[in-house]
Amino acid sequence: MLAPAGMPFTLADMVAALAAVFSGDEALRGFGRDVEAFSGQKHVFFFSSGRAAMSCGLTALQALHPQRDEVLLPAYTSYSVPSAVVHAGLKVRLYDLDPQTMSPQPESLAAAITGKTLCIVVCHFYGLPADMRTVLTLAAERGIPVLDDAAQAMGATASIHDTEAAKGVANVGSGQRKAGTAGTLGLFSMSRGKTISAVDGGILVTDDERLARALTAMPLRSPSVLRQMKTAIMALVLCFFLHPRLYWIPAGLPWLRLGESHFAPEFAVAGLTAFQAALGRRMLARLPDINARRRAVAALWRSRLKGDGAGCIAPLPDTEPVWLRVPVMEQAEALQEFGIVRGYPQSLDALDELKPHRRGNGPYPGAALLAEKLMTLPTHCYVTEAAVDEAVQAMRKGRAA
Ligand SMILES: *Cc1c(COP(=O)(O)O)cnc(C)c1O
Repeated sequence: MLAPAGMPFTLADMVAALAAVFSGDEALRGFGRDVEAFSGQKHVFFFSSGRAAMSCGLTALQALHPQRDEVLLPAYTSYSVPSAVVHAGLKVRLYDLDPQTMSPQPESLAAAITGKTLCIVVCHFYGLPADMRTVLTLAAERGIPVLDDAAQAMGATASIHDTEAAKGVANVGSGQRKAGTAGTLGLFSMSRGKTISAVDGGILVTDDERLARALTAMPLRSPSVLRQMKTAIMALVLCFFLHPRLYWIPAGLPWLRLGESHFAPEFAVAGLTAFQAALGRRMLARLPDINARRRAVAALWRSRLKGDGAGCIAPLPDTEPVWLRVPVMEQAEALQEFGIVRGYPQSLDALDELKPHRRGNGPYPGAALLAEKLMTLPTHCYVTEAAVDEAVQAMRKGRAA
């Protein structure tokens, strides 16, 4: 049985991470240098989760623009994103996505900008870079910062060309640019389903000095000993149970709520543990290999599904995706045994708990279509060619029935 996501830690990773617990802040400093080198950004901040990172980033931005309190989000995304906005005490305004590419729908985004807009959040879904060129041009014209959410796309690149309007705005330049580094602020996540994982964890990067100062000024609780122990135990569990021969065990435990996405604005905000930093460091060093493997599995899925009526979401031209999963539009049942799952259950405008924190009205037809039809296929290291073939057969059968 395939897990929907898989990022196994080796025993060597575990040993290195445990050793780091006894060497003070060295693992965190080393990981900081590595992320600086990876991203090319001057300032790096670590948090207990991607949500915590995003929430702190937004709070820091608001300290610089106290009269603005609205964050623009794609109407279809991980519930972690609106959770972070609400945690920061801010309001959500939605914009629509193009259901063929999952990139922001430009007219909808332009229409969502108001005098209260604090920033535009752009997500690169399943490792496919969004059209940042259009977003950055629009943001530059209106003088609005962009939060480049690469939680699902660490290592993906896109070529962004200079536009007249975008000149002089944060980080816009020609050439290849890594997802997460095109905005005023960039986000990466190391939670379980992401390209690299440290069980949990979030990273912010920025070149903006004022924002970096605001972030430095925000006190972060250091993680409790209990949380450090929980993280280490969870890492050990993941190390064993993501294997296809054992995954049926955690999959059969409903209280683990594996793979579920919840709107939960109440969450802990703390730093990253030394244990996690050491894990993250080792994973980041392997990121090119991990992503190469994911690209190969994605190519398999896409070649097998071609001409099969399954509408794969298309990567944009001039982008190099990392294929965290392969998103396809196909109204079908999930195939749990192959790690094939539905996308997010609802578009954000349909989420009742979010209503009190939202401004503006839809409709958001692109997001609605995605909520109705999106399925995602796994690309992690346990997905074999035989499993892909078998899964595609099962999908055909499901469609015929
Ligand atoms: C995972 C994710 C985040 C951060 O979530 P955490 O689980 O809190 O690390 C943010 N944005 C997107 C698009 C994500 O998929």
